[in-house]
Amino acid sequence: MVKLLIATHNKGKLNEYVELLSSTSVELLSLDDLSIHEDVEETGFSFHENSYLKAKSYSQLSGMITLSDDSGLQVDQLGGEPGIYSARYGGESCKSDTDRVELLLSNLQGTPWPARTARFTCVISICGVDKLLSSVVGSISGMIQYEPRGNNGFGYDPIFYLPSYRKTMSEIEQKEKNLLSHRADALRKVSHILPNLISE
Ligand code: IMP
Repeated sequence: MVKLLIATHNKGKLNEYVELLSSTSVELLSLDDLSIHEDVEETGFSFHENSYLKAKSYSQLSGMITLSDDSGLQVDQLGGEPGIYSARYGGESCKSDTDRVELLLSNLQGTPWPARTARFTCVISICGVDKLLSSVVGSISGMIQYEPRGNNGFGYDPIFYLPSYRKTMSEIEQKEKNLLSHRADALRKVSHILPNLISE
């Protein structure tokens, strides 16, 4: 069986990958499986650059074909912010997801509903030891709700409203989110090409 390193320490993310790639004949390994504890700094200026940087570094560290992702929330009214800085939005003054959600809502104060458009984006890169094999983009569009709703998920899920569901990402079940998220969208594209990529 061909092996693929998933460059994450996040168990939830790893499970998503295992579930969505289960129909492919690829054995998935995590950084923890290989006892790799190094952190790769996200110094790029785009989701593409950061996912490539991580896939390249971890493939060099492991000697294996490696998949990495970078994702975040882009709010149109804020010129695409927080974008690649989603996890660090507000810097030191924001200590939690709740703080970052509050900051985002206050930066959108006075913005009427039609202008509250946003999307989650995820770029997945796959690298061999010395080259980029593929990069795909996944996304999901929504609106920024006026206040947080729901208890599931993480990050900006409580304010990311899906008009077709009439719910925020935090109000839908995790299983359902895993099928419609930006990560799932990117992963589906990857799962189609993965076996060919790896065997080449
Ligand atoms: P990462 O690329 O998984 O490290 O995600 C970066 C940041 O983007 C996270 O810390 C969250 O703030 C935000 N983010 C990414 N994906 C999601 C999601 O599915 N729901 C909510 N927030 C997300």
